[in-house]
Amino acid sequence: GTPTSLQSLDTMFGSDDDDDVGAFPLHDAAEVGDVEMILKLLSKESNDGDFNPEAGSDDDDDDVDVNERDRDGYAPLHVALSNGQTECAKALVEHGAEWFITLEGSNALHIAVSTAAIPHFAEQSLAAVSMLLEVAEADALVADDYGKSALHLAAGAGLVPVVERLLREYPEAGAPEDPDAPDPINARDKYGWTPLFHACHGGHGAAAKALIARGARPGKPNKAGQTALHAAVIGRDQACASALMAADAELVHATCHIGKTALDMAVARGDPQMAALLRGEDPSAIEAAPPAPPPVIIAPDECFMHHTCPPISRASPDPPPENVDRLQTLLHPTRGILRSGEFENVDIVSEVRPATMADVLRVHEYPYVRKIQRICERIPDWNTSPRGALGTIDGDTEVCHNSFSAALCAAGAVVEAVDRVVAGSAEKVFCAVRPPGHHAGPNGPVPAPGDPVGTGSHGFCLLNNVALGAAYARCVHRHSLRRVAIIDFDVHHGNGTEAVVQNTTPAAPKFQFSTPYCDGAIVVPTYRPWLDETDHDEVFFASVHGYGRRREGVHFYPGSGPTADNRNFDGREMLETEEPPAWPEEGIVDDPFSVAQAKDDSTAQGPLPWVVDVGMEGLGKRAERGAAWRRVWRGKTLPAIAAFKPDLILISAGFDAHAKDEIQGPVNLGVKEADYEWLTEELCKIANTHSQGRVISVLEGGYRIQGGVVSAFGRSVAAHLRAMFRENKETWSAEACQKELDHELKQRRMQKEAQEAARAAAMEAARAREEAAILAAQKAAAANGGDEEAAAAAAAAPAAAAARRAAT
Ligand SMILES: [Zn+2]
Repeated sequence: GTPTSLQSLDTMFGSDDDDDVGAFPLHDAAEVGDVEMILKLLSKESNDGDFNPEAGSDDDDDDVDVNERDRDGYAPLHVALSNGQTECAKALVEHGAEWFITLEGSNALHIAVSTAAIPHFAEQSLAAVSMLLEVAEADALVADDYGKSALHLAAGAGLVPVVERLLREYPEAGAPEDPDAPDPINARDKYGWTPLFHACHGGHGAAAKALIARGARPGKPNKAGQTALHAAVIGRDQACASALMAADAELVHATCHIGKTALDMAVARGDPQMAALLRGEDPSAIEAAPPAPPPVIIAPDECFMHHTCPPISRASPDPPPENVDRLQTLLHPTRGILRSGEFENVDIVSEVRPATMADVLRVHEYPYVRKIQRICERIPDWNTSPRGALGTIDGDTEVCHNSFSAALCAAGAVVEAVDRVVAGSAEKVFCAVRPPGHHAGPNGPVPAPGDPVGTGSHGFCLLNNVALGAAYARCVHRHSLRRVAIIDFDVHHGNGTEAVVQNTTPAAPKFQFSTPYCDGAIVVPTYRPWLDETDHDEVFFASVHGYGRRREGVHFYPGSGPTADNRNFDGREMLETEEPPAWPEEGIVDDPFSVAQAKDDSTAQGPLPWVVDVGMEGLGKRAERGAAWRRVWRGKTLPAIAAFKPDLILISAGFDAHAKDEIQGPVNLGVKEADYEWLTEELCKIANTHSQGRVISVLEGGYRIQGGVVSAFGRSVAAHLRAMFRENKETWSAEACQKELDHELKQRRMQKEAQEAARAAAMEAARAREEAAILAAQKAAAANGGDEEAAAAAAAAPAAAAARRAAT
């Protein structure tokens, strides 16, 4: 980012509201680094004034609990560490702050290391890591919810001094021939990644060397069967690869589960120098592949000025899920996760021209646009009355005076992204925007299936940013590209985008009306082409989302999007006589009634664009849902996108399908960071194959921002961009995709069989125990010679055992 943009953000968000100081004084002092205040609050003597500790305290308000959590779950120590306030952290620890209290599954050490990944905090955070190990006696080997230790995190971020400091806590490696010896340096996280794998995947040679020197094993595979050498190819780091090959010469022959060596991957990913190195040749003799243009993040300043609630502080009531802190989690000048070292080469653009009215009206109807514009105009200026300057569009979508211009700039960001990728000055662009857009249809809210026209909610959306960008690309850049695909992985169905896409085919919907004089219906023809009558062949929309049947409390907003595909596998129009393609995957909601109803309700006067919806239930074991989500993409959606052969891919990137995101209450699709990273890489491969590598990703949902750099939302966006911004020329092939799917299905079958076997063994053991008990009871009865009670118990035991077995 430019210094100007940093400064402007700083002025916008730098100061907290003074009025609320007092509710969490320790947290507030920790945030700003006021050690004296912390010491004062924590020492009894300082509680002067009207409070006298000698008099005995029945006033809880004056008690200061050093481990108290605020609304978002932060203890004061978490606040100090995530703001690089090491002195405060030390004072807190010395007064009883516990290192092992977790925030979003991460303990103090995980937070200190994750914060150290932001260069601004690197020094303070290294000191914080040492302090936690020495003063708090933190256990460096403890893992977070993802199975990652502090060493996994430090290695992945390439923080060599932190890696070295943590390694001092590690025991010497056990004898390699002893399989049962504890081996923490090679501990695998939930994806099977060791710290060394993380270091190589991030392209950090020095960290990899430090780990190898302490006994890290390069050949230990992850769950996909990849070794650290495969990871070094992904991380494009020759220093890593050299160090690994020096440690284990056999590694070059290792294959992953789909049979690829590291060399195969280097060739496929377009890294001729790495390929030479792996062949044992001199990489410097080979010309390097030309670098892709630097990645771009477009984050308009205006999007930070769209307020949906009064200023947020620790003491304020729960803010609505869609609030300005979402963007701060990503882009706060010092705390934002996208300020981490791994994104240092990214061009962050904050000044953006708003979308023009012509751009907007390619997808929306004017009365709707004018309506939201007027609502915002009438709200007083935010800066003159920051507490009350809010309005609402529909009850769940709050707006302020700036919201319409924020929406125009959010859409303008996508337009700018399109211009850049078409001009070739960028290839991969992320639009960090809000308000989100994918629920906004031509007339704003899209009614749920079966509901009357004019109902429905905005779902926090004003203008459909991604559709507006796609329409702009097709219309304005018609000589450069034709086929545009929008891929939506938000947990909610992109009903607005789908409606906008379908509105490129003329339709004649009927509106019921009622006046004091008569009731009736009028037909209002509707048609918003993006270019011309070829739209239906050259516009594509796919969404994988949660879908409930409005039963048993399982209902995903907005209630539309049953699993359906209106084309054949190759994109051919479906004949009337043809059956839609089969959906073999479990967890998919099969709702033929709703599909048929939607077809009946359609008033389209011609073929509609290709739309592939997959509605998933979000039920079943939480740990297995992410895998089911991947199988859906592999089995259905990715092949369809590739068959469409887009010239440009736009992603509606919502991160609320994450296992920790509670926007939908207890149900979710169980997606995790690594799943987002995987999907992004697959979409980039399709872009390499058909779209000259061009991908524009537009932020939609994702609300689990608690924890900042360790939050589900922050980490998911970082994982998405890590995959998107990495140099990779690999193309997509249906065969490779099918191979991976087959492998996953096989793994799943084996997993199920193992579970069955374990269950059968447990039942057998239980049965054996029951029989032994019966036998013992009978023996006792016999020994007591006619003891009636024992005899009765012995007689009842088989029945009870049978009942218990039936119950399992
Ligand atoms: Zn969403």
